[in-house]
Amino acid sequence: MSLDVAALRQQFPILSRKLDGKPLVYLDNAATTQKPQAVIDALVDYYTTCNANVHRGAHQLADEATRRYEQARDTVAKFINANVREEVIWTSGTTEAINLVANGLGQLLNAGDEVLVTEMEHHANLVTWQQACKHAGATLKVVPINARGELDEAAFAALLSTNTRLVAMPHVSNALGTVNPIKALTAKAKAVGALVLIDGAQGIAHGDVDVQDIGCDFYAFSGHKVFAPTGVGALWGRASVLADWPVWLVGGEMIQDVTYQDATWGALPNRLEAGTPNIAGVLGLAAALDWFNTLDKAAVQQHEKALLASAHEQAEAFDGLRIIGNATNKIGVLSFMLDGAHPADVGFILDRQGIAIRTGDNCAQPLMKKLGIPGTARASFSIYNTLDEVDALFAALRKAKMMLA
Ligand SMILES: *Cc1c(COP(=O)(O)O)cnc(C)c1O
Repeated sequence: MSLDVAALRQQFPILSRKLDGKPLVYLDNAATTQKPQAVIDALVDYYTTCNANVHRGAHQLADEATRRYEQARDTVAKFINANVREEVIWTSGTTEAINLVANGLGQLLNAGDEVLVTEMEHHANLVTWQQACKHAGATLKVVPINARGELDEAAFAALLSTNTRLVAMPHVSNALGTVNPIKALTAKAKAVGALVLIDGAQGIAHGDVDVQDIGCDFYAFSGHKVFAPTGVGALWGRASVLADWPVWLVGGEMIQDVTYQDATWGALPNRLEAGTPNIAGVLGLAAALDWFNTLDKAAVQQHEKALLASAHEQAEAFDGLRIIGNATNKIGVLSFMLDGAHPADVGFILDRQGIAIRTGDNCAQPLMKKLGIPGTARASFSIYNTLDEVDALFAALRKAKMMLA
């Protein structure tokens, strides 16, 4: 079975846009994905037919909004194979989900405790833990990567100890495309009694995420990287851990009983969800996952592999291009440098030709410093990209090379 990419593209209105008369070639999917009509429709439908606040109304619209909103939680729970629906906590995205965990762990950490992260972290999964450790007097340890951009698994094992309270690592690196062996690493971390948080911002759109199979305690992701709107995401957390997790945002919805002097907290998931949520966003996220589920996952993965394989093949044959990140298990991302050219200039020249890529530090400054580069140019692929678009990227890069030489 192969993916009907032409039919798929028709469902994304933005992909027919032209920029200065040139067709848009959107290769910035690791920053955010485009939205299919089904998701756009879900937002319009909510505001057109059943806009009301959830969980509080005594009227039909509120009932309907609440029903759809809670059904969306079921959709997410099923998508990632959560044990129970109450383990899905709505957040504004990956960053907020990780902050939720860091805020709680910060209250549980003591001097002498250790948190383990990796050299390939996005700032969202680094600055959070760095600051939590600073406040608690705990120690942040960083797992090194090898020359290909893969985690050093021997170092990972060596850095684990009975003092390790948490291991936080990405499912897929946004800067290098490396797919980490999270299941095996989680097992090692659990063996010393550590909690495990997976930053799933990139993982969510590229594979079958099964949190029970991974064995982790937390999995964080953003809707906008999996065809859903911005401003919504989720934290999945093991119920046995989250049930007693320190609350963070306090206010309406998350309480059980309130007096002027004190308050008690509600049960999961509400205890971690204060205030009016992003209802439209939640419905858009469910619509995105429902839409994604209509695709043949094996065909999707095969197509993504083909895109990356073509990109790698052309990159390796390109004189003066250096690939950043050569992991054996890699998906969706080609980061690179052109000899003698600043990534920002490469991005500018590509943009003039309608090709959208990311340039810069990829929200991973310490990683760029370790690699000794100012940043990279990054092309990142999604299911609606075509092999022709990969060719267009390299045609544009040949032009860029001539102009910058
Ligand atoms: C995008 C991304 C984040 C941050 O996601 P937000 O949607 O900005 O909160 C974190 N980690 C990785 C690996 C990412 O790619």
